[in-house]
Amino acid sequence: MQAGKDARGADGDQTAPDGANAPAGPSGELARPAGGIDWEYAPAPESRDIVTLAPEYGLFLNGEFVPAAGRELFATVNPATEEPLAQVAEAGAADVDRAVAAARTAYEQVWGPMAPAERAKYLYRIARVLQERSREFAVLESLDNGKPIKESRDVDVPLAAAHFFYHAGWADKLEYAGLGPSPRPVGVAGQVIPWNFPLLMAAWKLAPALAAGNTCVLKPAETTPLTALLLAQVCQEAGLPPGVVNVLTGAGETGAALVAHPGVDKVAFTGSTEVGKQIQRTLAGTGKRLTLELGGKAANVVFDDAPVEAAVEGIVNGIFFNQGHVCCAGSRLLVQESVADAVVDKLRGRLGTLRLGDPLDKNTDIGAINSRPQLDKISELAASGEAEGAERWSPPCRLPDRGYWFPPTVFTGVAQSHRIAREEIFGPVLSVLTFRTPEEAVTKANNTPYGLSAGIWTDKGSRILWLAQRLRAGVVWANTYNRFDPASPFGGYRESGFGREGGRHGLAAYLDA
Ligand code: NDP
Repeated sequence: MQAGKDARGADGDQTAPDGANAPAGPSGELARPAGGIDWEYAPAPESRDIVTLAPEYGLFLNGEFVPAAGRELFATVNPATEEPLAQVAEAGAADVDRAVAAARTAYEQVWGPMAPAERAKYLYRIARVLQERSREFAVLESLDNGKPIKESRDVDVPLAAAHFFYHAGWADKLEYAGLGPSPRPVGVAGQVIPWNFPLLMAAWKLAPALAAGNTCVLKPAETTPLTALLLAQVCQEAGLPPGVVNVLTGAGETGAALVAHPGVDKVAFTGSTEVGKQIQRTLAGTGKRLTLELGGKAANVVFDDAPVEAAVEGIVNGIFFNQGHVCCAGSRLLVQESVADAVVDKLRGRLGTLRLGDPLDKNTDIGAINSRPQLDKISELAASGEAEGAERWSPPCRLPDRGYWFPPTVFTGVAQSHRIAREEIFGPVLSVLTFRTPEEAVTKANNTPYGLSAGIWTDKGSRILWLAQRLRAGVVWANTYNRFDPASPFGGYRESGFGREGGRHGLAAYLDA
């Protein structure tokens, strides 16, 4: 692995915990492994000047930024440097009341009665402004979340804009969505989102809700509030009527108060299975609509006839994209025994070329872990993998000395019973298991309480169809991984939740048909 510079431009001294680190040369650079690359990328930092950070951010309530009623604030930090970025208002119960009341008024008086074609224009405007300000969004997302700029720039922001464009197109065609003759909005949507794709998850929640005629109260994650607040500015810039979108920043208690609020008609949640279950308990018997997009432990299944180079790229993308902070991450590699050694060898070689470091460097492949608690969780689960007898490997890798970092890690010799094969790690950690027959692959892939996603790598179309029919996963990719499109429904079942986001199916959650 090529060492990146940390976000302040200094080489750090944390090391990969497996002792596999290469010795550092006199100027701090890593010695190259034999046969490795003998050249180095020059730093290519994206300027952060495009982002203007305010020292303090208020809640976005009824079209305006206002302080929280209790004047409470919390800090949001850059996980790559631990540098505080801004103070953000912490919404309490009184603020949830205000936001839900604003959303109700906007629903009854403005957004609900508005002609659908007019609503569509606002969604188009939001999409266009998102595109115009895309570099600002990408830099801000990488600062607040720690993800590499090439991902926020090429994935998060374009997909967020695409969701608004796609749903703008639906706004005046809802009766043709196949959901009934005259579908009606549900009312006020309370939406709680996680920190792994802050802007994109906001777009996944807001765009279909607004297109269907609902108004929204959005609660971003505590560690990544900034792009949701910038999106609120975009709503202002697009002239969205006050109260149609409200953003309440805060911690878990804010989310809990929002989902429990009697004025909320529909709850949409993305996050951990544990909190999803709590929300389901809270909502039981209330008659509120609910969709849950929760955790995953996806199998990425590689057969002996798969094109190995492509499969290795798919494995890397499946688990190391966004530092593995992906609910549909291909965190379990199931590889056919006869090619397991060859695939793992190639994978190790490929991991040696990944660059970990400054998220704002355009060459960076692996950015920072989003928070200290998440780093602790990943470290604890990885330690359990070793303790339970799996073999741990990371490429030679030096981690920056400040911020939250974890090297890409591969475990071989993993048994089905190991925690690293069963629990969602939500980090750059791959567990490799093997299988001999397609039937065994099915059994092992389905041996999880989750059911969000899976991948298949094979040369045979018939095998793809055979396996896809047997995998209990909401999304199955074949000879690719982590592909997203606003027209394609996404969601899971079992402990991965229920309901779909995206496509015609995603609209159903926001309509009474
Ligand atoms: P959570 O599920 O706790 O957080 C998701 C969102 O829900 C955040 O906005 C959070 O607020 C909010 N929230 C927390 N508690 C409640 C509650 N009782 N009622 C309503 N909303 C609530 O995930 P974490 O960020 O704590 O991550 C914990 C673990 O969950 C991770 O290690 C990972 O394994 C998994 N996870 C999975 C995700 C997925 O998409 N599959 C996404 C995120 C996490 P706040 O941020 O302020 O706590």
